[in-house]
Amino acid sequence: MCMNDRNRRDFLKTAAVTGIAAAGVLAVPAAAQAAPSTADAKEKIALTNVRVFDGTSLTSPRTVVIENGRIGLTALGARKIDGGGATLLPGLIDAHIHLQDLSTLQQLASYGVTTALDMATFPPALVDSLRGRPGLTDIRSAGTPAVAPGSPQSQIPTFPADAVLSGPDQATAFVRARISEGSDYIKIIIDVPGLSPETIKAVTVAAHVRGKRVMAHATTAASAGVALDAGVDMIHHVPIDTALTASAATRYTTSGTVSVPTLTMMEGFGGLGIPGMDYAAAEGSVVALRRAGTRILAGTDSNATPGVPVHPAYGQSLHHELELLVRAGLTPREALRSATSLPAQSFGLLDRGAILPGYRADLLLIDGDPLADITATRAIQRVWVGGTEYTPVA
Ligand SMILES: [Zn+2]
Repeated sequence: MCMNDRNRRDFLKTAAVTGIAAAGVLAVPAAAQAAPSTADAKEKIALTNVRVFDGTSLTSPRTVVIENGRIGLTALGARKIDGGGATLLPGLIDAHIHLQDLSTLQQLASYGVTTALDMATFPPALVDSLRGRPGLTDIRSAGTPAVAPGSPQSQIPTFPADAVLSGPDQATAFVRARISEGSDYIKIIIDVPGLSPETIKAVTVAAHVRGKRVMAHATTAASAGVALDAGVDMIHHVPIDTALTASAATRYTTSGTVSVPTLTMMEGFGGLGIPGMDYAAAEGSVVALRRAGTRILAGTDSNATPGVPVHPAYGQSLHHELELLVRAGLTPREALRSATSLPAQSFGLLDRGAILPGYRADLLLIDGDPLADITATRAIQRVWVGGTEYTPVA
């Protein structure tokens, strides 16, 4: 093997570490950290004169009511806030982050990311400490992922031994342990070489039998193929070694497998100058997936994990991801849907992703028209999380 190949293989292994955040790092006790200043969540508010993104277009100016944390029906008795003709979006959803501590939620909220799907964090106590924080970004988590013996993750001293799988016979115990810890879905790190296809399939089946979705980490065409063979629900990242072919992309579509490209992270890796890691391949993979009709979700892989070479910023990076998705050929409407209604549907979060009566009042008020210019999502005026206006910590 030439040096370049070795470097590349080592780097791909490093990339796999991205699947693990906060490894061995305990959270600062949440109570010791500053709480955000929040308005009275019980106050009924009528946001008047706002143009609502309804999943297709912007409506004419109208009133949206916030009541008891949800979108209400009538403005009767509400305090009025004049939206001044600004655009109201459903709170954004990042389909791939790694939790670090309470500031993760604060940063996400300040950029209008009101729901975040964590794709591997341990220990479970850290995840639990960040769940259900009123007025802060709502999370779901994979907890600890399944990894192969000898993988970089397995070398982390605090990595749970029961998540290092040497064969399919360990799959059921792994899935049971994650469910008992509160994992909302199951994550598998797929590298080639790595976990055997039989083990990956067994974990997938064990998760599905117990009603859990399966998230695969795959950064090469070969590992994405293994993930498709196993029947996982979502494949996170896109091949960065070579663009997905039309027929490979069609396999995603026909099997209903969802893609979370994490172009922000792929761009970061592509910029490191490692042979065989080419952002153009990642972007080409998204082009192929979109052409094939695959469902694509916005996810950033934002993390603050020591040892990971790229650290996309929480919240801010989701706006960059939307821009990269548009650059890869999605329309601005498709990009907005990839961060609102589509992740809500794909993760079974049926009370969000749209601005409808009864839904969570997760809202983002912005200047401009993001359907004309996706960068308008950055022009944030105000954010509400579960009906509580988010006021950034000074
Ligand atoms: Zn990740």
